[in-house]
Amino acid sequence: MRNLPDVYRGVDALRAALAPLRQEGKTIALVPTMGALHAGHLSLVEKAREHADIVIASIFVNPKQFAPGEDFESYPRTEESDLQKLADHNVFGVFAPNAKEMYPNGFATSIQIEGPALGLETDHRPHFFNGVATVVAKLLLAVLPDIAVFGEKDYQQLRVIERMAKDLHLPTKIVGAPIVREHDGLAMSSRNEYLDAKERQTAIAISQTLTTARNALRNGESWIDVRKKALAALKLSGFATDYFELRHAKHLGTPIETSGARILVAAKVGTTRLIDNIEV
Ligand code: AMP
Repeated sequence: MRNLPDVYRGVDALRAALAPLRQEGKTIALVPTMGALHAGHLSLVEKAREHADIVIASIFVNPKQFAPGEDFESYPRTEESDLQKLADHNVFGVFAPNAKEMYPNGFATSIQIEGPALGLETDHRPHFFNGVATVVAKLLLAVLPDIAVFGEKDYQQLRVIERMAKDLHLPTKIVGAPIVREHDGLAMSSRNEYLDAKERQTAIAISQTLTTARNALRNGESWIDVRKKALAALKLSGFATDYFELRHAKHLGTPIETSGARILVAAKVGTTRLIDNIEV
């Protein structure tokens, strides 16, 4: 068992710890998370290590990306075991601020983003990407990493963050990492913990439907037919679908051709909302 990584609760302390390392010429990677870490998060840490000398993870359940009535209160918070996992993956330090550090009284700034943020998640969670963009900008400016790693699991989010980093001339390279799945195909997610045994069984349908749809598209079926069948399959399995859409993999607009496009889905089983996506 390795020593736990140092935990920084404030931006000043974190910056003070990083300054000498930067002076030594060490490159720094940031892996932002909301904690309740699983193998998907840890794959981002591994990817980060490929690109930089030092990995910093952040753990912050960001209130600004939850709307009233969403799962902010019940979101799993497991800091102790998260720190152990990060230690096992040789993370140098963890930035785990409280909400007051990130959003002190009088906080009045937010980042509004359009482009890849339009549609999909925004149609169902209109507050979401402004909350994400604001917190990620703050994290990137707090750490000023050389690179930051984000999962393709949250595919639209990855594109939104790339856009924001470019638009704001942030000095960090944004790197995407592939989706890590359970053995039965379910994309790993901290929210999978909400699923009871029956819902967990149902949840398999989401990746199965994506794979079936991807294969049908590759075999030349029309998107209209593929989508109709996918929506029916999800409904039959017990999912209430928010969206099942085909998008251009880069800008997330309507694709001209299916090859290289991406299918993105969000659907609810019981009260748990799951998202997933697949390259065509
Ligand atoms: P979260 O803690 O859910 O906000 O996720 C933090 C980061 O981990 C985001 O960049 C996610 O896209 C990424 N992530 C979450 N689940 C997975 C997964 N199953 N595979 C790869 N990356 C993931």
